[in-house]
Amino acid sequence: MSPRIVKLKVLDARIPTTNSRKMEVLTEYNNRIKGYKGEKSLEFYLDPLIQSKDYHVFHEIRLLSGKYYFQIDFLILCHKFALALEVKKRSRDWYFDEFNQAYLLFDGAKEKIQNPVAQAKLQSKKLKQWLDEHQCEEVPIHYLFVNSHEKSKITCEDGNDQFKNMCNSEALIDKIELIEKFYKEEKLTRQDVRKIKRLLLTKHTPDDPDILKYFNFTPKDLLPGVQCPKCDSLPMKYHYGVWTCLHCKEKSKTAHIKAIEDYFLLIKPSITNSELRHFLQIDSIKSANNILKSLNLPYIGNRKGRVYYRPTTPICKRDHSEIAKWQIKLRSGK
Ligand SMILES: [Zn+2]
Repeated sequence: MSPRIVKLKVLDARIPTTNSRKMEVLTEYNNRIKGYKGEKSLEFYLDPLIQSKDYHVFHEIRLLSGKYYFQIDFLILCHKFALALEVKKRSRDWYFDEFNQAYLLFDGAKEKIQNPVAQAKLQSKKLKQWLDEHQCEEVPIHYLFVNSHEKSKITCEDGNDQFKNMCNSEALIDKIELIEKFYKEEKLTRQDVRKIKRLLLTKHTPDDPDILKYFNFTPKDLLPGVQCPKCDSLPMKYHYGVWTCLHCKEKSKTAHIKAIEDYFLLIKPSITNSELRHFLQIDSIKSANNILKSLNLPYIGNRKGRVYYRPTTPICKRDHSEIAKWQIKLRSGK
């Protein structure tokens, strides 16, 4: 899941319902998660390629070309060609008219929308430009719009010349096999493929915006506090190392970890003792100090002015037996 989606979810939980722009956050999150689920469902159909040694599959690769970034839902690379996929999961049927215009159909009406085939074509052009910029060997680049909703169908009017560049997810493998058979010779050597693959992975820049800035929020717009892991309400009350939910009475010793992760994601990648106390809504400098020490975060500075930094591995994914050892050490004063 892209950092943008993760941040949107965290932001949504911390913007109060009284804020008039909460809806914007929720709408953006819902749209992005829908897109993500659409792409995710395609992994099943791409599995034979993912398992194959001859194909390389890249999900949501995002690259800088000129002044702008472009992102490809799925990029498939082999010795003969590259293929850019634009994936959409919409519960409505698709209709493409003779002028290459795209519509979604509902209740007998049709709504004109951005043409996903044109989007896929544009991404393939940008990819070609990017490969040229990086002096890569020339390779034919194909593009496809893939409808990943199993119940929605595609109708294409006679005269529309984009029909070869669209398919349903279950027909994707057939399409790829057709392209594969079209080329008798390999265009890229093993070294060429290796070079492109390495470049794609090193130049990939995940979509990771400053989400507060994006919505024009400030840290003051956020609800501080530790969120209950059971009922999601804010804030939990801290007492002698235990967080208690004021709403459902759930107790937790580790609920602050998620809150600190939220702080790093939304506000900034560093935190001081006083910032932590404000965000977790605790008064005691000593308790805040114990919490920060128990997480074993990298830090700089002396005791009073110490600044703690976001670790490279998210705290929740770290080895908690290590953290537990730290907590025991702290309690025993060693
Ligand atoms: Zn609760």
